[in-house]
Amino acid sequence: TVRVRFAPSPTGMFHVGGARSALQNWIVAQQTQGVFVLRIEDTDAARNRPEWTEGILSALDWIGIKRGTYEGPHYQSSYAADHTAAATRLYAEGRAYYCDCTREDAVARTGNKHTGYDGFCRDRGLGPGEGRALRFRTPDEGETVVVDLVRGEPTFENRLIEDFVIARSDGSAVFLLANVVDDMSMGITHVIRAEEHLPNTPKQQLLWEALGVKPPVWAHVPVIVNEKRQKLSKRRDKVALEAYRDEGYLADAMRNYLMLLGWAPSGDREIVPWSVVESEFRLEDVNHSPAFFDVKKLRAFNGEYIRALSEQDFVAACAPWLHGTQTIPAPPWRPEAFDAALFAAVAPLAQTRIAVLGEIVEYVDFLFLDEPPADDASWAKAMKEGAADILDAAAEEFGALATWTAEPLKAALERVGEQRGLKLGKTQAPIRVAVTGRTVGLPLFESLEVLGRERVLARLAAARA
Ligand code: GLU
Repeated sequence: TVRVRFAPSPTGMFHVGGARSALQNWIVAQQTQGVFVLRIEDTDAARNRPEWTEGILSALDWIGIKRGTYEGPHYQSSYAADHTAAATRLYAEGRAYYCDCTREDAVARTGNKHTGYDGFCRDRGLGPGEGRALRFRTPDEGETVVVDLVRGEPTFENRLIEDFVIARSDGSAVFLLANVVDDMSMGITHVIRAEEHLPNTPKQQLLWEALGVKPPVWAHVPVIVNEKRQKLSKRRDKVALEAYRDEGYLADAMRNYLMLLGWAPSGDREIVPWSVVESEFRLEDVNHSPAFFDVKKLRAFNGEYIRALSEQDFVAACAPWLHGTQTIPAPPWRPEAFDAALFAAVAPLAQTRIAVLGEIVEYVDFLFLDEPPADDASWAKAMKEGAADILDAAAEEFGALATWTAEPLKAALERVGEQRGLKLGKTQAPIRVAVTGRTVGLPLFESLEVLGRERVLARLAAARA
């Protein structure tokens, strides 16, 4: 059986690139009726935090990789003894040697930082001890051919692979070895991971061979870059999956988009049901070039997914932002001022307009605030010459209406415009700002209808005060 794994290090927020690798592994496991193993690589005690692990688990859950449906999580730190044992075995079998060179020693000898370790201690016969690292003795001849489903057969000349460190002087294994030992003992058959790890791969494959186990099939998926073609970085770019979730990206939109980084479904389509992704995705079809993480496109995708929701699902999806359990942005109204019936009345109008769920707040806040939000720029833009006159005339026309619904409200404002030779847009602007506080938003007359006669007339009057 195929056994794949996702092996994140809990050293920060969960990166969108990690989410993509996880999904790709997940799909391969589904397609092959294989097993998806989750392994938390928590050996870097200085940089790990339990909340990052929790963040990974809940983000995976959100994106569709549910707890309880995969093997694990295994924690790398609990296998430290196995890692050390593997290092000891490689030493005992003459595949590794102790080295007491400092970096400065090595650089002084080679005069060059970039050629790697020069093998000075190879035959000195040092035993373990303080200040001695264990290095793997790489072959001097031949090549290491990595079988990679994405990249073909990257080939590395063994003489160019330095004798790399596999364990520190305290006996603890470094990442390269720990990662291999765990993959081996967990029976991993396919290692699907980001391209950053490709340079490690020949070293790791040599370790597999030295430990006497057939190496896995590899697949290194392309790096993800921003609009400046720079590798996505957490300092520069918004990379945390949680950040997208908290702003109101839908999990379905997000995972559809993530799968397009380096791959596309058949037939010139991009937005496709997950079942299509699951049946069509092939690592062999993933391309080599860097994948552009296009936030604008993701946003547009999300808007499409929002529009595809049923009205009921849309209302439910907005709830966390309306009730303040999501806070990007936080609702500016008092919690008890929220009125589900009013919201339901405008929800379909908002559903066609927002691209991210958190935007719902600014579309509907005027319904739940005592006064419209104060936005000086909008106010200045709409309250030009003639605005006072329009506000007064509209208040009068509206006040005289027998039926308070969108149609007659519109007809009333049209009358105001006609009397003054103004187009509807011109007369709408001051009304919209007086009532909703903003120059853009939901359709005006429906908004007036839902807000109700009393509050609309009060706000028109307040705008004149
Ligand atoms: N813990 C490593 C990382 O997060 C895993 C690399 C791998 O998938 O082998 O980058």
